[in-house]
Amino acid sequence: MNKSQLPPTSIDANPWSDYLTPMAIRPIITLPDPLLRQLSKPVERVDDDLRKFADDMLETMYDAPGIGLAAIQIGEPLRMLVLDVAEKDEPKNPQVFINPEIVSSSEDLFNVHEEGCLSIPEYFAEVERPAEITVKAIGLDGKEKLTKADGLLATCLQHEIDHLNGVLFIDYLSKLKRDMVIRKFKKLAKDRPPAQMVG
Ligand SMILES: [Zn+2]
Repeated sequence: MNKSQLPPTSIDANPWSDYLTPMAIRPIITLPDPLLRQLSKPVERVDDDLRKFADDMLETMYDAPGIGLAAIQIGEPLRMLVLDVAEKDEPKNPQVFINPEIVSSSEDLFNVHEEGCLSIPEYFAEVERPAEITVKAIGLDGKEKLTKADGLLATCLQHEIDHLNGVLFIDYLSKLKRDMVIRKFKKLAKDRPPAQMVG
């Protein structure tokens, strides 16, 4: 039986109940939320609930707007990310990576990109990462896929996979710069009321 056909009384007991609602834009957590440092857990099953969750992630990412989003950024510690690195004049190209794993990265070839993060709004810095990687992941069809990536896609995949391990792009900066950013966001968080109080 499909979960959406369950009587309403059993919905509360279902940890996925949030995803029974139509596609939804979800709040993105930001620094210094400790969840951002949490290790995400592997996805155990690709089913309709997970596909709906992927839709929410994409909707949230496009709305932000961003080119990549990890599940933990909307508070779900699952090893899953979405991205779309299509140029503005190209058609949308949403991609979903479940339980992604970098199986190889170029050792002597590096790319430098100016990176930003939806969880660290309005802060950008150059990060150097391997220019070419191969990622093994499961797609929304439940099948394993191998993706060879370079350029922006390689950077984006590495940035999002880092999120699944509690790593942020500011971790690649000097301690001085990183501490400055963290201090700024801690101060911002103190100065504004908690999100749930503003409704
Ligand atoms: Zn990020």
